[in-house]
Amino acid sequence: METVRPHEHVLVIGGGVAGLATAAALDPRRVRVTLVEERPERAGAGTVLAMWRGGRVALDAIGVGERVRSTSFPADRALLRDATGRGLHDIAPSLWFTPRSELVAALEGALPDSVTRLTRLVTDPRALATQLGADLVVGADGVRSAVRQHAWPGTAPVITDWIALRGHLPGPPEHTATEWWGPGGLFGTTPGPQGAAWFCAVRGGRGTTLDPADALALARGHFADWDPRTREILAAVGEQGDTQRILLAPRLRTSADDGLVLIGDAAHAMSPNLGRGANEALEDAVALAAMIHRHGTKGAPHAFSRRRHLRGQVLRVAASAGLRVATTGHAAPARDALVRAVAILA
Ligand SMILES: Cc1cc2nc3c(=O)[nH]c(=O)nc-3n(C[C@H](O)[C@H](O)[C@H](O)COP(=O)(O)OP(=O)(O)OC[C@H]3O[C@@H](n4cnc5c(N)ncnc54)[C@H](O)[C@@H]3O)c2cc1C
Repeated sequence: METVRPHEHVLVIGGGVAGLATAAALDPRRVRVTLVEERPERAGAGTVLAMWRGGRVALDAIGVGERVRSTSFPADRALLRDATGRGLHDIAPSLWFTPRSELVAALEGALPDSVTRLTRLVTDPRALATQLGADLVVGADGVRSAVRQHAWPGTAPVITDWIALRGHLPGPPEHTATEWWGPGGLFGTTPGPQGAAWFCAVRGGRGTTLDPADALALARGHFADWDPRTREILAAVGEQGDTQRILLAPRLRTSADDGLVLIGDAAHAMSPNLGRGANEALEDAVALAAMIHRHGTKGAPHAFSRRRHLRGQVLRVAASAGLRVATTGHAAPARDALVRAVAILA
């Protein structure tokens, strides 16, 4: 076989879903890759991720679609309920729930041997690129992105007053994804590796520190008069759940600068209620790799931004709007009537 020496060097900062997928999607015969991650042991942390069609197509393009599918849990029904448990909508979705650890393991397994991996916190991305002789910096470093804030000063993440909690729910296998919508909060259960997984979002002040025990107490108080199922789950979860404040990426006009491009949450971190962030990160990675192969490292950032930037920004805004609609108090009767009408007409 002909040996082609890669003549361009891409520095990927962040080894989460977006960064691993980019490093896996780039052709090692054409591009040399250095992947830098601050905390590799954290990349697989979390519970399950909803995998939509776009994310699954991206996984196929990377060559790990079958592997991820074999470790995922399909949902044969998706139910939407109001806070009391009354059904609003019932559909048969084409949706998988993939353990994040399995997704990360599959992407890690797809990395070419030639990828150089470094473990460190990057504070000055351009200085590191110069030091390594890289032609392009890919900012795949999540919502707090140092790459974004370095290239576009004043783009700190938006701190919301929403808290997300999630965990596994050991028990018999769950085949249905259920979401409860009510004033000031939403709750969900999905299929998962231990039987089911649960998540919820609730308003919880604006402080930057977040004590998991306080967050759980807040959620237990908030959902106390909801459907008994939500109360039972929160009573059973103990203190092992994963708690985080919901941070959003700020509005950006572009995700590209000379020699630098943002992908995934660094570019468009959105509230998690649409279950799309990791899917978009995968689609970004595959699109960027294709642009690098087609246009080289010089042309790729702006070509990528033209193709993907607007979509990410629209989804970021839509997710926040969707969260407001799902958790409205005063407009809930109108919303529920609309959801039911859509269900009847569909
Ligand atoms: C509660 C919750 C539920 C969700 N559910 C879903 C779902 O069902 N479906 C879905 O598609 N998405 C979901 N998401 C969103 C999804 O988790 C994210 O969109 C996705 O992980 C983004 O991937 P990323 O690689 O861009 O960022 P991250 O996964 O955040 O990865 C960024 C990586 O960069 C590293 N890093 C950061 N800064 C530096 C630095 N300066 N130097 C070196 N390394 C650095 C970090 O350690 C991290 O590993 C959910 C999110 C939450 C919070």
